[in-house]
Amino acid sequence: MQKLTIGNWKMNPGSLVEVKKLVQSLDKVKVGKNVSVAICPPFVYLPLLKTKFTLGAQDAFGEEKGAYTGEISPSMLKNLGVEYVILGHSERRIHIGETDELIAKKIKGAMVAGLKVILCVGEPLAMRKKGMAASKKYVEGQLKKDLSLLKPKDRSKVIVAYEPIWAISTMPGAKPDSPEGAAEMIVSIKKITKGKVIYGGSVNGANARGFLERKEIDGALPGGASLKPEEFRKIIEAAS
Ligand code: PEP
Repeated sequence: MQKLTIGNWKMNPGSLVEVKKLVQSLDKVKVGKNVSVAICPPFVYLPLLKTKFTLGAQDAFGEEKGAYTGEISPSMLKNLGVEYVILGHSERRIHIGETDELIAKKIKGAMVAGLKVILCVGEPLAMRKKGMAASKKYVEGQLKKDLSLLKPKDRSKVIVAYEPIWAISTMPGAKPDSPEGAAEMIVSIKKITKGKVIYGGSVNGANARGFLERKEIDGALPGGASLKPEEFRKIIEAAS
C-alpha cells in the first residue's frame, strides 16, 4: 500500500527568500511511485508552491464563506488546488484553544468541500504516564467527538494522524514514540475509524524506517524534519 508523507511546515519559514531556497532544495528530492508526498506550508505560501508539490493546508474554517474575519474556507483552499487539510493539530488545540466541537465542524466543512482531512489526535504526557489503556481511552474520546458530525460510512475517509503531544519535537523533553507503541495505538484507532492512520512526533531521517516499515502505520507526518531537505529526503526514502 502507498505510504503517505505529509510535511507540516507549521509557521515557517519566516520569509519568501527562505521559502524559495527551501523549494529549490526540495525540488531535488526524488519521490518513488509507491509514496504520496504533500507539503503543508502556511496559507500565504500555498500559491507559490502550487505548481511544485501536492499541497495541504494547516487548518480551514468550517463555513464556506461569510462574516468570519481572518478565516479561510475549505472551498477557497480546494479552488486553489489544495488536496489535504490538517485539522485538530495539538498546537491549535493548545495555543488557539480549539475544541473538539469546533474541530468536528471543520472536519464536516472540509469533507463537503472535497478536501482530504488529516485529523490529529494524541494524548498528553500525563495520560501516557497513566499507561496505554488510559491513553487509548483518551484518544478514543477525541475521535468520537471530532468525528461526531460525520455519517459512520464517511469516517473511514478521514486520515487520522496519531501524534502523542509529548512526542512533538518542540515540546520540552520530547522523544518519539516507539514504533511498537505507535503501532499499538494505531491499531486501536483503526478499530474505530476503519481508515488510514499515520504517525507524527519527532519523525526524522534516522528513525522514519522503524515506523514506516510497520504494516499498521500508513505514513508519517514530520514537522521540524520537513523543513530540512536532507531529513525529508530520508523520510521519503523510508516511505518508499
Ligand atoms: C507536527 O508538527 O505535527 C510534528 C509531528 O512535529 P515534529 O515532527 O517536529 O515533532
